[in-house]
Amino acid sequence: MTRRAITLLPEILCNQIAAGEVVERPSSVLKELVENSLDAGAARIDVTLEGGGVARMVVQDDGAGIPPGELGLAVTRHATSKLSSVADLFSVTSFGFRGEALPSIASVSHLTLTSRVRQEAEAARIDVDCGQVLAEGPAALASGTRVEMRRLFAGTPARLKFLRTEATEAKRCQEALTRMALARPDVAFSLTLGGREIFRLPAGQTLAARLAQFWPLAVLEGLMEFSREHGEFKAHGLAGRPSHAQNRADRMLFYVNGRPVQDRLLQRAARDAYKGRILSGEYPQVLLFLDLPPEEVDVNVHPAKLEVRFRDEGQVFALVRLALAPAAGGEVLSEQGAVYSSSAGSAGGFAGGSSGPVSASAWPPPAQGGSPAARGSWPVGDKPGMQRGWQSFQNPQPAREVPLPLGPRQTAVGEAGQASGPFSQHSPEYFSVSAGSEPRPLSQGGLEYLGQIANTYLVLRQGGEKLVLVDQHAAHERVILENMRRARSSGDSQPLALPVELSLHPAEAARASELWAELRSCGFLLEMSGADKLLVRGVPPSLPAGKAAEFLRDALADRTGGLAELWTMLSCKSAIKAGQPLAQDEAMSLLETWLDTPERDFCPHGRPVAVAFGAGDLERLFKRK
Ligand code: ADP
Ligand code: MG
Repeated sequence: MTRRAITLLPEILCNQIAAGEVVERPSSVLKELVENSLDAGAARIDVTLEGGGVARMVVQDDGAGIPPGELGLAVTRHATSKLSSVADLFSVTSFGFRGEALPSIASVSHLTLTSRVRQEAEAARIDVDCGQVLAEGPAALASGTRVEMRRLFAGTPARLKFLRTEATEAKRCQEALTRMALARPDVAFSLTLGGREIFRLPAGQTLAARLAQFWPLAVLEGLMEFSREHGEFKAHGLAGRPSHAQNRADRMLFYVNGRPVQDRLLQRAARDAYKGRILSGEYPQVLLFLDLPPEEVDVNVHPAKLEVRFRDEGQVFALVRLALAPAAGGEVLSEQGAVYSSSAGSAGGFAGGSSGPVSASAWPPPAQGGSPAARGSWPVGDKPGMQRGWQSFQNPQPAREVPLPLGPRQTAVGEAGQASGPFSQHSPEYFSVSAGSEPRPLSQGGLEYLGQIANTYLVLRQGGEKLVLVDQHAAHERVILENMRRARSSGDSQPLALPVELSLHPAEAARASELWAELRSCGFLLEMSGADKLLVRGVPPSLPAGKAAEFLRDALADRTGGLAELWTMLSCKSAIKAGQPLAQDEAMSLLETWLDTPERDFCPHGRPVAVAFGAGDLERLFKRK
């Protein structure tokens, strides 16, 4: 191959190369243009798109404008009004600073820039086609700037091939504008797509009001406001309850100093805050603004500035996690700070009005409740009482069954004969309540226990206002896990009079030696006899002896488990099952202990333990509103 001499690339080619990074598709053009408008202090920004933003895009603002003498510079590479020294680079507060966007866009499209500085008598414009200035001169425009781009990538057909359908590109543009509009509820925005107005957002909205234009009410009702500061770092915004998590990730939006970013660290911190409270594959709604001194964050690591780099990643991670904790671990029974409610005093989902009978102060923080043993209530997990607690579940007092007057044919909901009503699919016994005669008050939260339903759910009334259902298995799992956590280092064990013997497959034996220390710290006293026999001499106090073999088989078959997973599994195995009748005293004592347990709203697998229905929810169920 013959060598060619090194030459400087012509400016137009430089711009086209830069455009490869900055201008990927119409939505990236839109982002740059709107950011320029925001940098120019616009109070209103109107966007018009045709042909998915490829055929035509107009962004018009009422910002500071560009003087006629600088129009040529605005479309020249590395010309900017926002930066003058390298020191500025580490304290930028504007979106732009690279001076690359307009020349890049102008090098791969036909761009007309019209602008008028308020005090100037006249507007001016410049016309550029694929990087060549075609014309420059006076024009007509009220103050502000209007950028019109036509035929994106017309001169670079190779780039055109990478674009998706018109509809997809339009959708991306809409998403990009929405993201920016959410960060600036003080600015008015409008979007017109192919002649149709998609939204028009007034200036000076609250964040909640602005978000209401984009997210459905059911999602909004689960949101909670949060704010947390540490030194000069602040994280604030709106976040959804775990109960409202969805299997879509696009309602997690992050902003750093007002700049929309797609940052792995922030995403991880948010996921971490909800860990154990949502199922895998589910995502919470998070709209998070992180504000920090500009020198703490490097925004110059990505050409489109979608990624940032933090100086102190640990601090950012911890702050975000802490900030989201109240929403992620929010109490099901006492909703504080809910920002949307469909009507006063009642709201969808769990978002009950904070004026309800349960206020935050009515709930002592779990740690203050004293240990269950000290209060002589629920014995499970409390070592001396453990066996008694379990055995009482093995031999429950027979509960008197009182069928409710709703039989399969007396459907309360839905038309007669239609099998859709909630009472149509089950026999009458399914809906029998074990008689507790009188409601029994619990010691906190204004709660009363009414009875057990389907031998699985404990029915409670709260302050005469709310219906609360507690899953007995999930609640007990949480209680046991907490007790194991407390006894973590003690490794207490309950010796077995007759050791249980298990024959192990070689793979199980290998796994046993891997997990040996973990199993010991859970409370298993184990001994190998030969290469393939495992003797179980003691079991964790929470685990009924009869379940030990079953648990060990599962633990040794499982490839993934560390200690945390062993605990989760152990709590699941030890807990009372769904379908088990509970005497009233047993249910009461489970509930009291559960109410004193941290993270009580979710079982160790992340499923909800309790669900609550306010008057509003019931009204909706009965279609009264
Ligand atoms: P940057 O934003 O990085 O400075 P751009 O290429 O996006 O680079 O813009 C170049 C310059 O043109 C900006 O620094 C700014 O002075 C001016 N400019 C661009 N858009 C506008 C606008 N909408 N209103 C006022 N000035 C603008
Ligand atoms: Mg810019």
